[in-house]
Amino acid sequence: MKPVYKRPLLKVSGEGLAGEEGSGLNPTVIQGTAEQLRDIRALGVELAVVVGGGNIIRGMTAAAQGMDRATADYMGMLAGVINAMALQSALEQLGVPTRVLTALEITEVAEPYIRRRAIRHLEKGRVVIFAGGTGNPYFTTDTGAALRAAEIGADVILKATQVDGVYDADPSKDPNATRYDQLSFEEAIQKNLQFMDQTAIQLCRENSLPIVVFDMSAPGNIQKVIVGETVGTRVSD
Ligand code: UDP
Repeated sequence: MKPVYKRPLLKVSGEGLAGEEGSGLNPTVIQGTAEQLRDIRALGVELAVVVGGGNIIRGMTAAAQGMDRATADYMGMLAGVINAMALQSALEQLGVPTRVLTALEITEVAEPYIRRRAIRHLEKGRVVIFAGGTGNPYFTTDTGAALRAAEIGADVILKATQVDGVYDADPSKDPNATRYDQLSFEEAIQKNLQFMDQTAIQLCRENSLPIVVFDMSAPGNIQKVIVGETVGTRVSD
């Protein structure tokens, strides 16, 4: 199996580590995710991962319940660091060298994000996990993923979701919803499709950075994406 990408950046949401419960960390799911990451790294790609924190706290939700928004957002970013540490631990137990780089400095537990250092780790074959999103409140981890992907020269963003691609309507509500195999940035923005926030999609468009939206819980799916099989939805120019 030959990869079609050299340096993919995988975006995993916090929910993707929570399993059926939808919140908290599920050790079995984290272990399974780490095994998938080990297998795709073994294909010879330089693998970067961005992990969100929505399984622990989302700023907007906490703000709606009365918390100060910026404070809640910083808590959300810290939640991403917790997830990244869990994933790092699972990867290291599988013998995969891994570095966590955080957008907020917590040097006792992880390296601060330094672009050149991140690239060097990738060149040395380490899995690099970016945590803490952009480091700024009022943004999302998806935007953090688009930003880091552009900075490190990733050739694709692999956006792992619970749905098997991008649909023209919500497939859980509309039985006639149809999945796109391919989609242009233009169309994604015009139709306001919600697979990523608009800031993230714009950033990808400006940098001609393709996105593949796919269901990572389906076994073998991520390998298929890496070797260029049509899985999920590809969003590009
Ligand atoms: N967040 C933020 N700035 C960022 C990234 C994340 O403020 O650059 C906060 C925001 O409150 C968000 C929370 O962290 O709700 C968790 O991130 P997100 O919801 O994007 O995580 P995911 O859906 O990927 O788990």
